[in-house]
Parts: sequence; C-alpha cells; structure tokens
Amino acid sequence: MPSARPPRPLPAYDYVVVGGGTAGAVVAARLTEDPDVTVCVVEAGPSDVGDDSILRLDRWMALLESGYDWDYPVEPQENGNSFMRHARAKVLGGCSSHNSCIAFWAPAEDLDEWGALGCTGWSAADCFPLYRRLESNDAPGDHHGRSGPVTIRTVPPEDPCGAALLEACVAAGIPTTPFNTGTTVVRGAHWFQINSRPDGIRSSASVSYLHPVLGKRPNLEVVPVSRRGGSCSTTAPTTARAAAPPGGAARASSTWSPTPFTPGRSLPGAR
Ligand SMILES: Cc1cc2nc3c(=O)[nH]c(=O)nc-3n(C[C@H](O)[C@H](O)[C@H](O)COP(=O)(O)OP(=O)(O)OC[C@H]3O[C@@H](n4cnc5c(N)ncnc54)[C@H](O)[C@@H]3O)c2cc1C
Repeated sequence: MPSARPPRPLPAYDYVVVGGGTAGAVVAARLTEDPDVTVCVVEAGPSDVGDDSILRLDRWMALLESGYDWDYPVEPQENGNSFMRHARAKVLGGCSSHNSCIAFWAPAEDLDEWGALGCTGWSAADCFPLYRRLESNDAPGDHHGRSGPVTIRTVPPEDPCGAALLEACVAAGIPTTPFNTGTTVVRGAHWFQINSRPDGIRSSASVSYLHPVLGKRPNLEVVPVSRRGGSCSTTAPTTARAAAPPGGAARASSTWSPTPFTPGRSLPGAR
C-alpha cells in the first residue's frame, strides 16, 4: 500500500487581503511597508500588469461588460431598462483599473456632514491631508500634493464636445467653476482633472501602489484568481514571492480570459 504523503504546509501570512481592488491595493502596499509584516492579496480577476486594454485610459469604455467586470444584472424595472447591467471591475486594481479616472477632491461640506453624523476620521480636516499625501498634482495651489503615488493632472480644454457642453451650461445659467482649486464646488460645471499619467496610462490603485513594489517586497504576494478554471493561478509579473507550494513551481501564466458580454441575456420578467 502506498504511503500517504504528508500534507504540504500552506503558506501563512499576517494579513490576507481579499479583493485586490482600489482599497485592497492600497492596504496591501501600505501594510508591506513594514518588512516584518507579510501580506497575501487574493483577487478574483486577472492581473492588470502589462495589459494595455486595462492600463490605457483611452480604452476604458471597452472595459465595461468586457469580462473584466462582474457585470451585475439589475432588478427587473417596472418601466423598462431591465437589460441594464451594473458595472463593477473584476481585475487587479478593482474599479480604479476600469473607471474613467475622474479625480475630484470631495466637497468639504459633504465630508464635514459625514463627520457631524458620527463618521470619525471622515471630516474635511481629516481627509484633505490624505488627499494631499496621495497625489502628485500638476494644478496650482499650496493645498495640492506634489510627490504622492497617484498622478493627477489637468486636461487641456480641447475636446469640442466638452467645450460645447460647457457653453450650454453657461447658457442654462449653470456656473462654470473649476474643480480641485481649494475652493469647494457644490454646484457648477467645468473640466475635471484625471488620475492618469501623461503617457496615457491610468494612475489606478494598482499602478500607483502595487506596480512599484511588485517583485521588490518579499513580504507581499499578489494572487489573481482564475474563475473560469476554478483554480488559483499566478501571473509571474505580479508575484512578488513565488505563489508556489513548497517544492512546487509557480505557474507562469494565468488561465483566465475575459468572458464577452452577451447582449441577449435577460432576466425573468424582463421587458
Ligand atoms: C463604471 C464606474 C466608473 C467609475 N468612475 C469613477 C471615476 O471616474 N472617478 C472616481 O473617483 N471613482 C469612480 N468610480 C468609483 C470608484 O472606482 C469606486 O468607488 C472604487 O474603485 C471602489 O473601490 P473598492 O476598493 O471599494 O472596490 P473595488 O475597486 O471594486 O475592488 C473590489 C475588488 O474585490 C474583488 N473581489 C470581489 N469579490 C471577491 C472575492 N470573493 N475574492 C477575491 N476578490 C474579490 C473584485 O474583483 C475587485 O477587484 C467608478 C465606478 C464605476 C463602477
């Protein structure tokens, strides 16, 4: 009778971050600044590393319903629109890898209202220093950060649709008020800033916080998960420490591939 193999010990971590999305990427990067803390990030979607379809901001619309998306169905609507889907990213970096990178400083009034309602740590006085710390912003103003991991930049006012929209806003009596100037904009229209590098690569949480440390911190492991095959696989570029069982080899590529959206899918009772 063959002797039973002893079970392989599973790797142990101080923290397992479930979901390598916007928050998860930041939490993992910040925790592993301490070399004595070990962290594993488990992400249900694939890696964004080296994938221009995710990284190039000008391709963002193609990401919706692309398979890099949980693509949640909405409840059937009484008056139609039942074929709508609610987009939420399924990829390393989460929705910051998949959104349009509009970068706003939240209005101080809103944050202060949260603080007053009991959200300790969420007032403008609490949050604004954190905004400053996270950004490298090209806009003028002493309030802006210049050396944070997230690149925020001003968009040249060149898009004819945007220009026409602003003109229409003026005609309709809506004030045109620049954002992120240090003055709260509660009502108004203007060009927004974007969190994107000048070379067109999105400054997502993954790009800003994980990419600079992947492969450089032995205390950080990032494991994108394949849903299709039901197995766990690791793309080599995202693995800071090889995600292999002791004695085994890390897989060199992901088995994941995007599932295209099927427009004909409908819900029971959908119109
Ligand atoms: C279409 C769209 C456009 C947006 N546009 C902007 C914008 O322009 N500017 C802006 O500031 N905000 C925008 N937002 C909002 C912003 O992107 C989100 O609020 C933010 O990214 C949410 O961060 P999060 O960490 O809470 O979640 P997410 O970033 O969604 O991260 C959650 C992660 O967890 C993973 N996950 C879920 N379940 C599991 C599981 N069981 N196991 C492992 N992993 C799991 C997901 O795959 C995902 O990667 C947009 C959002 C959407 C959906």
